[in-house]
Amino acid sequence: MRLVLLGAPGAGKGTQAKKLIEKYGIPQISTGDILRKAVADGTPLGKEAKSYMDKGGLVPDSVVIGLVKERLAQDDCKKGYILDGFPRTTPQAEALDKVLADMKSPLDVALSVDVDKNDLMKRLTGRRTCKSCQQMYNVYFSSPKKDGVCDKCGGQLFQRDDDKEETIKNRLDVYEKSTAPLIDYYKKQNILKSVVGVGSIDDIFNKIVAVIGTK
Ligand code: AMP
Repeated sequence: MRLVLLGAPGAGKGTQAKKLIEKYGIPQISTGDILRKAVADGTPLGKEAKSYMDKGGLVPDSVVIGLVKERLAQDDCKKGYILDGFPRTTPQAEALDKVLADMKSPLDVALSVDVDKNDLMKRLTGRRTCKSCQQMYNVYFSSPKKDGVCDKCGGQLFQRDDDKEETIKNRLDVYEKSTAPLIDYYKKQNILKSVVGVGSIDDIFNKIVAVIGTK
């Protein structure tokens, strides 16, 4: 299964991708994770990407397209993959189509996870992550037992730099302007499926499996 996950920041793409990789046995390719690792490692690419990410803007297409091309060429992608957070612009989607046409392995599904804007704000401003084990919490919906401390491992919880309120507003605007048009892009290709991303994680997951099938 070759799948693209679409949805605004905070729609729960990452959470659902983690469940999908278990069910389908294929890797998740998250450009956000790849970029955050480059930033943490202090690589030249990370240094370039950080300034865009901190403001909630997009890293230039050429950088991200290069990263994804490299990743798709790796062996574990032969059985399929879940692209999470890529493509985010029409030029990225076009570049992806071209790479996949060359590989003779077009996308099977573009799945859109739809959540309204008020919910997204709460989900993003409330999000906290454990420094040690990466477990995620939300101070509005799934708070830890003790403020700022991970239930699982006792690690310290932190807020991603790009989850601060001003940055989030910008990320949502960028989504509307640059990424939402991809819904139409994939609709025209007849591979778009949508689910409403509200409810329990398992309910949303079951809806996703029902619409994408088990190919
Ligand atoms: P995410 O974790 O997917 O929300 O990504 C975090 C940040 O990484 C975004 O706000 C962007 O600055 C950057 N980023 C991730 N994926 C892309 C992409 N496909 N194109 C451009 N920038 C990206």
